[in-house]
Amino acid sequence: MKQPGNSSLLAFAALLGALAFLPGCGVTRPTPAAFTVVAEFYPMYVEAINVVGDTPGVRVENMVPTATGCPEDYQLRPGDLQTLSEADVFIVNGAGLEGYLDKIAAQCAHLKMVDASAGIPLLTIDGEINPHVWVSPALAARQTRAIAVALAAADPAHAALYQKNGDAYAAKLEALAARLCTDLASAPVRQVVAFHDSMPYLSRDLGLQILAVMEPAPGQNPSPRDLADVVARVRSAHGPVALLTEIDSANPAAEIISRDLQQSLYHLDTVTSGPLDPALAKDAYLRAMDQNLAVLREALGLDKNAGKIVSTP
Ligand SMILES: [Zn+2]
Repeated sequence: MKQPGNSSLLAFAALLGALAFLPGCGVTRPTPAAFTVVAEFYPMYVEAINVVGDTPGVRVENMVPTATGCPEDYQLRPGDLQTLSEADVFIVNGAGLEGYLDKIAAQCAHLKMVDASAGIPLLTIDGEINPHVWVSPALAARQTRAIAVALAAADPAHAALYQKNGDAYAAKLEALAARLCTDLASAPVRQVVAFHDSMPYLSRDLGLQILAVMEPAPGQNPSPRDLADVVARVRSAHGPVALLTEIDSANPAAEIISRDLQQSLYHLDTVTSGPLDPALAKDAYLRAMDQNLAVLREALGLDKNAGKIVSTP
């Protein structure tokens, strides 16, 4: 057997040394000066920065990279555990979105975890709890109020600020929710096809029926048979059906369905990505939902171009 040379031994010793200092939640670290709130992913980040506002000495970080899209199959990265090891509070969407909470709880005993959806009645679709609570502005308001209560408990010195900021942002979300319902109440199209299972809470708010979902499971490409099933369900539906997809998903399947049905495809923003600069991020959800309202007005037959035939390429 070839003996390792001196340089290999030195490299091995250096690797062992490095491994000994790899950060993790079990490692004792100096207490950071600031009170640090980590938000699981972008919608929680937007809610958290609104609740925190300009509260002095409080930092908010976003964990899941914004390019991830919907984080249903997200795997924790080593850097995430390092981030959480230095945090005071971790805000999660809950509702079964995260498969990794037990691991974090086991490794980060100090961390206060906040389930923003606690107490919200959840929808079960095909036997599984649906996690897309944040896509409903009315429920995003409830999550915001829950985050304000949790931060006030975790950092009592700033409780009044969290409550004031949380109430102000939740009121904006509630006004948005009311505007969506009012504006779309008379829309003639009441059935939709969704790209993935992100729509049940918003559809319920708006009184829309989800006729079919293109993706058979999150992140799983539909088979030709799945696509044919969706097309057949739209063709045999009573009344018109809007085809919805999402701006942050690569969706050749949606394009195929749109072409087969000769129907426009409408792109909604489920706000899983956006700018991280707090000055821009604080209104990112409100902006995205206003854009969604404009898209839905057309998709559901209220504005002039609705229902137009797409010319096939
Ligand atoms: Zn999803």
